[in-house]
Formats: sequence, C-alpha cells, structure tokens
Amino acid sequence: MTETLTRGSYIYEMSSKHQPAIRVKSGSEVIVETYDCFLNQITSDSATYSSIDWNQINPATGPIFVEEAEPGDILAVHISKIELADQGVMVTGPDLGVMGKRVSNFAIKMVPIEDNHAIFNETIHIPLNPMIGVIGVAPKEGDVACGTPGDHGGNMDTTLIAENATVYFPVFHKGALFSLGDLHAAMGDGEVGVSGIEIPAKVTVTLSVIKGESLRTPLVENEEGIAFIVSKETLDEAADSAVEEMVDYLLERTEMSIEEIAMLLSAAGQVQVSQIVDPLKTARCYVPKSILTSLQIGKVF
Ligand code: CA
Ligand code: ZN
Repeated sequence: MTETLTRGSYIYEMSSKHQPAIRVKSGSEVIVETYDCFLNQITSDSATYSSIDWNQINPATGPIFVEEAEPGDILAVHISKIELADQGVMVTGPDLGVMGKRVSNFAIKMVPIEDNHAIFNETIHIPLNPMIGVIGVAPKEGDVACGTPGDHGGNMDTTLIAENATVYFPVFHKGALFSLGDLHAAMGDGEVGVSGIEIPAKVTVTLSVIKGESLRTPLVENEEGIAFIVSKETLDEAADSAVEEMVDYLLERTEMSIEEIAMLLSAAGQVQVSQIVDPLKTARCYVPKSILTSLQIGKVF
C-alpha cells in the first residue's frame, strides 16, 4: 500500500528533534506532496519583496521515520515519479545569486507549464527537467535549515536528483527522518540567479534501508552514472572532496592503485557544479556506468 504524506506536514530545518509525520517500513512507497520553496506565497508577478514572509521559505515535507534505519546504515531513496503543478515561479534581486551585486531590482516571474515546457516568455520555452532541490535526512548534529546543504543532503539543488534516480544518504539517527521539498520544473547547474523554476509537486519515492555499507555524503545514481555530492564553504573544497569520495569508493571496490584511479577519473570522470548560491556550495564527481561495468561494479551498494 502506498502512503501519501500531505504537504501540511512540513519542517524548516532538518533535525533529530522533530516528531515523525509518518512511520514506514523499509521498501515502502510514499507519495510526498510539497509546497514550492516560498510556501506557495507568490501567486502573481505583482508580489513584492516585502509582501513575502522570508521566514517561511524552503519548507520540506516530512519527516518520514523508516523503521529499520539505524545510525551507520544507508537510506536509499528511489524517485519513481515527479508530478508538477501547472505554474512555477522564479525570483532574483539585490544580494541574491551570482549577479546580486549588479541586479538593482527584486524581480518575480510566474512561469506557466505547458506541453512539457516552462514558458519563460513568448519565445523562450524551456524543456522541463523536474528535480528535487531539498532532500535529506536528520543531520548528525543540531538543526540545519532546509535552505542549507550538507552531508545529510538538504538544499543540494542538484539537477541529477530527478525521476528514475536513486539518492543514497548516510543515516545519522534512528528512523533516518527523511524529508523533501523545493521542487524545480527546471534548473541550470549553478542556479546562478538564486532560484530554479520553483513549483509545488507530488513526488513518489521508495525508501529502503541498506545495512552493512556506509557513506559520508550523499550519492546519486541514475541510468547513466553515479555521482558523489559534497557541500562546503567554497566550490573548490566541495569539488576536491567529491573527487576524494569517488576515489575512496573505487579504492574499496577494485584492485586499482590510487595512481590508476587518479588517471581514470582524469580521463573519464566529470567534476560538475550543482549550485553556487546557497549558504554552502555544492559540487559532485560523476562516473559513467560504462566505467563501473568495466570495473565489475554491478550494484552501487
Ligand atoms: Ca533550493
Ligand atoms: Zn528551489
């Protein structure tokens, strides 16, 4: 039986302090309904900066307690379906995003969704890439605002976290306390203007606990490859650390020397940017499945 978690159960920080919104067994499918990252506050282009309550942004629906999950396990989240609302919204403005110093006005754009495209304006219709911005588990320590990414996931704004992908998280607390929100109809790597095409949605996930394996930071798998996702103060640190995670993963699973792995990643790995606009920056190190197959790595875990 598939449970539905309505968007009324939402949190603004990921934390072990929250009471679970629902409890499910490992292997359960759950439909998670989400607000957009503004709690659906913006309904027209005429909204203003001061008409938005900025204390109510980045809600994530949850947390979901997964019965079998214990600290040290991995939580695998398979995303089987993302259903978007029929309209999204974008914002940018002073002090927001990469151009925050040059942009002088707060701007809002309502973006209708039609025929699998986001209608940016009359002539620019952007193909949809429905993806999840905020997704994660309760962090090891303290409360982390849903707008901040980290080893627990959170606001990773990673375009690969889309339909048919599986995201693997380290479990820090009993039950994992999984949440998600901040869907985007489309977003470019970097999210340079500070928002994707922010949109309410309904996401179908299957939550499975993996025992006997561990992770330090999230990993995403899709049909084409796998990527470790790391968030740090700077993009440089995030990129280096994502490469190191991939090196350690390959060292544990192959007979290759570290020199061979360094050359392999140099030839066939990809360092990619997830986002450069959140409180920590997020990068990833990606390796295609064809390479994993050559290394006889069949299952990711
Ligand atoms: Ca986000
Ligand atoms: Zn967003």
